[in-house]
Amino acid sequence: MDAKKIEQLTKKADQIGKLDTKQVMTWCDGCGNYGIQNALKRAIVLENIEQQKLLQCFDIGCVGNESDKVECYTIHGLHGRVLPLAVGAKIANPELTVIASAGDGGTFSEGVNHLVHAVRNDYPILFLLHDNENYALTTGQATATTPKGQVRNGTPDGVAQDPLNPLQFVLSLGPSFVAQTLSANVNHMTEVFQKALRHKGFAFVEILQTCPTYNKQCPNEWYAERVFEVEKLKNYDCRDIWQARKIVAETGKFPIGVIYENLQKKNFLETVPHREKRKTTLIEEVAHTDITKFLGKL
Ligand code: SF4
Ligand code: MG
Repeated sequence: MDAKKIEQLTKKADQIGKLDTKQVMTWCDGCGNYGIQNALKRAIVLENIEQQKLLQCFDIGCVGNESDKVECYTIHGLHGRVLPLAVGAKIANPELTVIASAGDGGTFSEGVNHLVHAVRNDYPILFLLHDNENYALTTGQATATTPKGQVRNGTPDGVAQDPLNPLQFVLSLGPSFVAQTLSANVNHMTEVFQKALRHKGFAFVEILQTCPTYNKQCPNEWYAERVFEVEKLKNYDCRDIWQARKIVAETGKFPIGVIYENLQKKNFLETVPHREKRKTTLIEEVAHTDITKFLGKL
């Protein structure tokens, strides 16, 4: 991290602290969620996002335990359903900055349909995938991203199938922003989250998250030996979808940074013609609707 960034963070330390609550952390020692939470709070403050205009939505999972540890509007939703929840809130009140966080289990099993349409529609929210390669909250069962052959609770002989590659999957759907970062590297996460928060469409960020309790095969050191920064590569152009698709297909290595960005794509709110001339938000219109006649029928 450069000196300018350190100075910025020092000046804004109080503001970052205001995003903390008094709730006690319940994650295991060494869990990647601690770093993710710190980096996200830093990025929110560095991007001057007001607490009163910030909504964070959480899926079920260890990630969801953050819902009462951050001082802003939060919703802890149903398993796999965080995306429709977050998207609904954003469409109703576009003035909000909306961040949705979910794990690999909920995202690529129960909720994979929602991810497809969130990318396709380019809903203007930030989505953070906490990928620790297991269903950690339910004591470590295999998910769609658990590497082949690795043992988890429920698969003592090792997972028999090839894993799903989240970045390959999302890049095949025509996204506007795809990035990857590492839970052990708070500075890198902060920078990636800042860029993602600035993006005007659906920003998909995969976090390679360590889970020392149930994914002992992939500790921080294991990832550190295998990641490389795309920004340091000669001739890598993150506007080129084919370069992006090629780089994420390499096995055994993990590109980090902004993998792909399409600044030309219109987000969902820019493509809804019937709302073009409206000066009010949906939430303001609903607030003035008299629903008492419906309540009388209950
Ligand atoms: Fe973190 Fe894993 Fe513990 Fe969950 S089980 S809190 S992901 S270390
Ligand atoms: Mg998980």
